[in-house]
Amino acid sequence: MLNVPSQSFPAPSSQQRVASGGRSKVPLKQGRSLMDWIRLTKSGKDLTGLKGRLIEVTEEELKKHNKKDDCWICIRGFVYNVSPYMEYHPGGEDELMRAAGSDGTDLFDQVHRWVNYESMLKECLVGRMAVKSAVPKDYHEEKKVLNGMLPKSQPTNPLAKESPVSPSYDWFQTDSLVTIVIYTKQKDINLDSVIVDYQDDSFRAETIIKDYSYLIYIGLSHEIQEDFSVQVVENVGKIEIVLKKTENTSWTCLGHPLENHNLLIPKKDTGLYYRKCQLISKEDVTHDTKLFCLMLPPSTHLQVPIGQHVYLKLTITGTEIVKPYTPVSNSLLSEFKEPVLPNNKYIYFLIKIYPAGLFTPELDHLQIGDFVSVSSPEGNFKISQFQELEDLFLLAAGTGFTPMVKILNYALTNIPTLRKVKLMFFNKTEDDIIWRSQLEKLAFKDKRFDIEFVLSAPTSEWNGKQGHISPALLSEFLKRSLDKSKVLICICGPMPFTEQGIRLLHDLNFSKDEIHSFTT
Ligand code: FAD
Ligand code: NAD
Repeated sequence: MLNVPSQSFPAPSSQQRVASGGRSKVPLKQGRSLMDWIRLTKSGKDLTGLKGRLIEVTEEELKKHNKKDDCWICIRGFVYNVSPYMEYHPGGEDELMRAAGSDGTDLFDQVHRWVNYESMLKECLVGRMAVKSAVPKDYHEEKKVLNGMLPKSQPTNPLAKESPVSPSYDWFQTDSLVTIVIYTKQKDINLDSVIVDYQDDSFRAETIIKDYSYLIYIGLSHEIQEDFSVQVVENVGKIEIVLKKTENTSWTCLGHPLENHNLLIPKKDTGLYYRKCQLISKEDVTHDTKLFCLMLPPSTHLQVPIGQHVYLKLTITGTEIVKPYTPVSNSLLSEFKEPVLPNNKYIYFLIKIYPAGLFTPELDHLQIGDFVSVSSPEGNFKISQFQELEDLFLLAAGTGFTPMVKILNYALTNIPTLRKVKLMFFNKTEDDIIWRSQLEKLAFKDKRFDIEFVLSAPTSEWNGKQGHISPALLSEFLKRSLDKSKVLICICGPMPFTEQGIRLLHDLNFSKDEIHSFTT
């Protein structure tokens, strides 16, 4: 059954109001949802006012289009007429107007780098920015196909003082194998730090070093087999990727460099990279939440670090829609090892299906064997937050439980100093509680773990805790096991829940370092 449309969308309690970067969304008028926008873009209406022509836009021209009813914005060199989109923008018209008549790339990246504006705004495309000055001569030299060994490293921006030392790479071969070695020059590198894909003859290895990304991206000169191995020598930060040749010939070069190859760039400046994953299984967990299992292609090495999320992408009525989801373990009880085995190819998700939602009903309609695009991981949770940890408190509401799954598994297995883990799990009704019996079994099995359920709309039979997050609930729950024990509190759920929780935690004198909120 569809939701009866409210006067304002999203409804005040709707998770649609969750904006990345912690920004609140504004109420949209009736008939101005994302689905309505998609319908308008498919209607054949001329949204740019240019009758389908694409033009070159000079800076002077761009500046002239700075009013609500005539608003052009440049994102990554492409100019869009966003006036028709104003009323559909979840962040509101004023937010869009901040970039009117100018380059909005930075503003866009700050708020929602992952939104696929190219697809959403394709009918609003006015054209490209006109090139201002001639491209330096050596630029084309750089981009030429390289015949010998590729350069080992390129200088990164000398102004970026905080950037790590630039990694370098090398390659060598035997009759049947090609080995690419990345020297990260960092010690805290592990198998989670490198994401490798071989798609359409292109080889791509992205190494995440702190907030930076070092990319090896090559159009290979010869074919390779789909599977390869990835090894990391942690104490020297060396990554070895062994590719299998399809033919035993000697390669004279590795291939030609592709975009951003051999560069270390801030992660926030890189686009999201996707690979197609196959739906392997889908199991009911509650009346509206399912456990989805996706399989990575054999030509991908990707492990999602604890506390991080990925973006799933589906094409819905011709428009690419992207939403974030947090991978979980397949169960709280069976898988007690993290990181997963290097050859693990499965990613699990607990996903609530919203009948009137845009993305989740579509996801739910996928058949086993269908494909979904999955991005590389993102997120700012750091495993170092667990160092010397004694008390771990988890505050989760609804599907805000998802980041807690791997955190829970990891903490109970890998933190020797840990004394206590407590989860306070907020739901509307008993039927909404995800993995209730597994949680109860885990609490029974491991005496360090306690669980407390709090319901906001219980039936009269419920004799447990009730209500919303509150000072009384938190002060009783957040008791340190020792006077000065080292504490971490993780909080995740609907934005109003998380925001209120953070305020209450500060009121209870927990410091910023003791709180990790999952908001983006
Ligand atoms: P939306 O279209 O966004 O709709 C959401 C709500 O609005 C629904 O209640 C819907 O009924 C209502 N609504 C829709 N249209 C209207 C209308 N016209 N009028 C009134 N109401 C309307 N979710 C998970 O389940 N699992 C996860 O692991 C997970 N991880 C996440 C990680 C991060 C970092 C973030 C930010 C979010 C995460 N989410 C997760 C939430 C997820 O990204 C989506 O927001 C969620 O799945 C809803 O998507 P949707 O497109 O189906 O719904
Ligand atoms: P829900 O509507 O079922 O609510 C669950 C509980 O949250 C309620 O019982 C209540 O205790 C609390 N709650 C809800 N609205 C509240 C409000 N306005 N004020 C105070 N408390 C409130 O939740 P759901 O439909 O499962 O939604 C889960 C939310 O978690 C979504 O918004 C999703 O985007 C978010 N989420 C975020 C991440 C992340 O990493 N950032 C991960 C997973 C889910």
